[in-house]
Parts: sequence; structure tokens; C-alpha cells
Amino acid sequence: MTELIDKALRDSTDTRAIISGRGVLDQTGTMFTDLFGDAQCILVADENTWGVAGEPVKASLEAAGVTLVEPYIFPGTPTLYAGYENVVKLRDHLSAVDAIVCSIASGTLNDIAKLASGELGRGYLNVCTAASMDGYAAFGATITRDGFKITRDCPAPAGLVADLDLMAAAPQRLTGTGYGDLIEKVPSGADWLVADELGIEAVDPLVWDLVQPPLVAALSDPEGLAAGNPDAIGLLAEELILSGLAMQAHQSSRPASGAGHNFSHQWEMEGHGLDWEPPLSHGNKVGIGTVASCAVYELLPGLDVAGVDPAARAAEWLSEADNDARVEALQPLPAIRAAALAQSRAKYVPQDQAAARVQLIKDHWPAILQRVAPQVMTPADIADKLRRAGAPYHPGQFGIDQDKLKLTYYQSQTIRSRYTIMDALFELGLLDAVVETLFGPGGYWAETPVPTEGHLDPTS
Ligand SMILES: [Zn+2]
Repeated sequence: MTELIDKALRDSTDTRAIISGRGVLDQTGTMFTDLFGDAQCILVADENTWGVAGEPVKASLEAAGVTLVEPYIFPGTPTLYAGYENVVKLRDHLSAVDAIVCSIASGTLNDIAKLASGELGRGYLNVCTAASMDGYAAFGATITRDGFKITRDCPAPAGLVADLDLMAAAPQRLTGTGYGDLIEKVPSGADWLVADELGIEAVDPLVWDLVQPPLVAALSDPEGLAAGNPDAIGLLAEELILSGLAMQAHQSSRPASGAGHNFSHQWEMEGHGLDWEPPLSHGNKVGIGTVASCAVYELLPGLDVAGVDPAARAAEWLSEADNDARVEALQPLPAIRAAALAQSRAKYVPQDQAAARVQLIKDHWPAILQRVAPQVMTPADIADKLRRAGAPYHPGQFGIDQDKLKLTYYQSQTIRSRYTIMDALFELGLLDAVVETLFGPGGYWAETPVPTEGHLDPTS
């Protein structure tokens, strides 16, 4: 997989160097001088990441002759620094020092360092501390602002050091989180195939090949991940980095994020679990979104798409104003509503084109079924893999009940213009029937009770 990373680096716009392997922390210093010459360095960490890697990283930089200024260390509790105000704080601190950031971070802290450096127009380097998400090599940062998650554009890091011994020593819940973020590449790949088949968004084969071929191997040893086996964590970590590089090369998250991610984004924007300690992670929510999305894919072969009448669909098609009203009714929170309206308008098909769109989907349906069949997994298989990796595998484990989950099938379809299977079903007029089947007698969600174990909700 390291060869794939090298190949991806040739096409990446921001990231120029990645070292991945066991015991590679001591190469941080030479990477820094290769990337930034004789620039000064400021280490950015929190109390936890400083505790596990601060001294060896510092020693490596010093050995390479890098001049270090006083490090910037956040408290050890992410809830205390996850907000955008801490990007401002770090940026203001950095603007007064002439130094390039070397962050020792995963998730939120990496995003804070990325965005603060990006806002100052400076490159940075990150030492990865956990295989917890695919954002390491991605452009853009996700930050909490006023209780909501927002995404900001900013360059990806110039360099990444992925020491697998360090990442394997991270708390197990962080690895489970990375597994949840990764497993969504299964149905999101299918979503891309649907969009490709319909001529809406073509698959980019170069980017596809960075993410999809190594995916099965990276997902294959959930027990090894739960046990902190460095080989299993290496496969996961490298595939997460490849996903980030694919997003960087594609300048979009399409290669790594589909309808399953939209479930997570809906809950994230609503602030669900953000104030828990530890906060409910992105990957934990994405894992459940993956189960939800694969539950839909499982029903596709049984749908009567041939029986859908394009003229009848066109006659009942929502006008743009009525579609806006539908979106507004689904999104009561003003901060989400405005974004959802814009995203839904971007993919709205006008009434006079409705019959042609429905006919297009009907014509390509057999090919869609054929192409997605080898790509997807069953929801039971996804849930089982998540469970074995030590990750949540039912939304009831983090306070999403059946009513909210059902509503999320509709809400999540409105928040992003990216075309997925949910849009195809909505346009066919079959989304309601699919969701009702999932929650009705014999349906996946009706037949899958909330487990008694593994609850993350502090009120449960
Ligand atoms: Zn993600």
C-alpha cells in the first residue's frame, strides 16, 4: 500500500511527503528540513499527544538541526478546545511567531492546526497519533462553531508522519472510529457508481483506484484492530491516508463520502453528542450511517422499478417552491436549513425534465443493480464488522432512537447536492416505500434491537 501512497503523492496538490511505518517518529526532523528548509518550528499538541510523542518528536527535530520555539499545548480534553475560537487563538499566537507548525495530533487538533496554518498561508506538518479518521491528508477542516460542525476550506498538510507503533498505542475507541469512517467507502463507492451510470458524475478511475482496491484488506481484520495489532492498524491507517489523498487529488470528498456520511453530517450539524466526554466521534456516526445506507442497498433488487410510470411521476413532481417547503419542514434548525436549501436546489430536477429523469433511471436500473452488487455489503455484515472492531453498530448505542433514525433518512437526503442512491429513490418516488420497509415488520431496523452493551450516551 505504501507504493500506492507514493503514487498518490505524485498527483497531490498540497501534500509532498508521507512516511508510514513502524518506528518512524525519528524521521520527523529530516522531513521538516526537506519540506521547510531552515524555517523555525513550533510544536502544537495537547497534553495527551504531547505525553505520548512530544519528547521523541522534539528530539528528532533537534537532531535535524531545526530551531524550535516554545511549543503550544492545549488541554488534554478535546471538548475544551474543539471550537473555532481555538483556531483563532492558535492563529493569533502563530502570527506573532515566525515558525512552521509541526502538530502531534489526530481529528480535531489536526483540523485546528490545519485551519490556523491555512488562514496564515503557511504550510504545516502533522505527526499522526491515531488511525481515527481520513482527514489527515484531506484539504479542509471540520470545526465546531456555535454548537454546530462547520467545514472550512484550507490546504492539506505538506507532510505526514504515520508511526504505526504510536497509532497502535492510541485508545481503542479511536481506532474503532477510524474503522467507522473507512467502512463508509463501501456504500459511498456504490453511490458513485450510481451517479456514474446515470451520467451525473463520472467515476475518476485514478482516484477510485486509490481508495477501492485496498479497501477490502483494510477492513478485513476488525479483531486485530480491536486488539491494537500494528499490522492491522497499519492497513487501516494507510487506507485512511489514501482516502485523504484521493479527496485532495479529486478536490472533493466524493471518493470517500456518500449517503452514509450524510447521516453523520446531519447528526453532527445538530450537535448530537458534541458536548459528551469524549464527544461522539465522526467515525462512530459514519459507521451507523453505513449500516443505514447498506440497508437501503439490500432492498434494491426487490424494488419494482420497471413498474414506475414516468408520466405519473412527472404529474406528481414537486415544484421547486414545494421542494423548498419540504426541505424547510425537514430542517427546523435555521443553521442547517439555509445550507440544506442551497444543496437541495443544486440537485433539483425541474418538472419539465422529470419524466426524462425517471425514464433515465429506469433504463439504467438493471446496470445499476449489476454494478453495485459486487461493491456493497449487507447491513448485518457491516454491523458485525463494526462490533468486532469495538465500534458502535446500532444508533441506539448513542441516543438515536428509531423515530429519529427514520427521520434522518429524509433529512440526510437534503443536506448535500452530491447524487446518491437516496436521490435516485426519491426521484423514482420509492424512497418512502423503502424507508417504511426498513422500519416495518421484517425490515432491518424493526428486526434489529438496540444492543444492551456498548452504550456511549452518557444519559443512558
Ligand atoms: Zn469521514
